[in-house]
Amino acid sequence: RAKEMGKNNYQIYSTLLNISSFKQFQLERDLYKALDQKEFFLQFQPRVEASSGKMVSAEALVRWANPEWGYVSPREFIPIAEENGLILPIGDWVFREVCNRISIWRSMNLPIVPISINISAQRLLKSDFIPNVIHTLRETNTDPSLIEFEITETTLIQYEEIVTLAVQQLKKIGIRIALDDFGTGYSSLTYLKQYPIDTIKLDRSFVRNITDSKKDAMIVKSMIFLAKGLDMKIVAEGVETKEQLSLLKQQECDEIQGFLFSKSVGEEEFQSFLQNKILKPIDPQWEREDMT
Ligand code: C2E
Ligand code: MG
Ligand code: MG
Ligand code: MG
Repeated sequence: RAKEMGKNNYQIYSTLLNISSFKQFQLERDLYKALDQKEFFLQFQPRVEASSGKMVSAEALVRWANPEWGYVSPREFIPIAEENGLILPIGDWVFREVCNRISIWRSMNLPIVPISINISAQRLLKSDFIPNVIHTLRETNTDPSLIEFEITETTLIQYEEIVTLAVQQLKKIGIRIALDDFGTGYSSLTYLKQYPIDTIKLDRSFVRNITDSKKDAMIVKSMIFLAKGLDMKIVAEGVETKEQLSLLKQQECDEIQGFLFSKSVGEEEFQSFLQNKILKPIDPQWEREDMT
């Protein structure tokens, strides 16, 4: 009997597996067409100065709207794109689109802030990466000091030599470098001193517990301290509450990115942020209380 049960479980399990891999298969099929069919668009999430609440920069985040699937999260489609190489054309589209946006904002006389862009490891590893960056900057007439590239800590550790070379070249071009998801890759800040990194982005997993866990608060505090000692700007990701904000302010964290100030927003709303840069914290906890 147990054997039979086991067999049934196996059948159920394998059916579920097939359903999910079938979904993966269909998603991938549709992802191939998404660029041509103009299904991607950008949203922007502000980065604000902790002390003043002023937006000083923003991160461009790719979005996929498909007629069949609706909005597909980048957490779902970026890994597929990384696997099948589509991340290369998608990433190039994102970069060009950011440059185009900047040029539009400039023509509207909007006060522009630097925009950061996530760069996948695969893109960095291709020999045409740097020439392509230079080409796009030229074609769109974009000021490189308005661009920051985000590279994850894991990418840096995994492909140390190539990343070092690419980062040096990007710095020469005038593009800033941020280390994304910092704290998840087990490198130490002292090891980072050899890289010309401008910004450290503390991963959300650390920020999440700082008001409950003394240890996490201490880790974040020492990362802020070290980053400052190394002349790097430090940004806390995923800040959602006023309590987290006041602790980070107390620890002199430079910048904040998180739902407390704003989720990622579309073009129109972002233009109004550019116009009026002071953002007010909106604590989701207050909203929840209001609703009950
Ligand atoms: P990431 O680069 O670490 O981006 C930050 C993610 O955290 C975004 O998710 C953002 O919406 C989310 N986030 C920001 N503040 C909060 C908060 O307070 N609370 C919570 N719960 N989440 C917050 P998103 O847009 O879903 O992107 C997920 C990941 O997908 C990104 O993580 C990045 O690794 C990747 N990604 C997004 N756009 C691109 C792109 O254009 N190119 C590449 N290569 N990867 C991208
Ligand atoms: Mg990022
Ligand atoms: Mg990040
Ligand atoms: Mg992250």
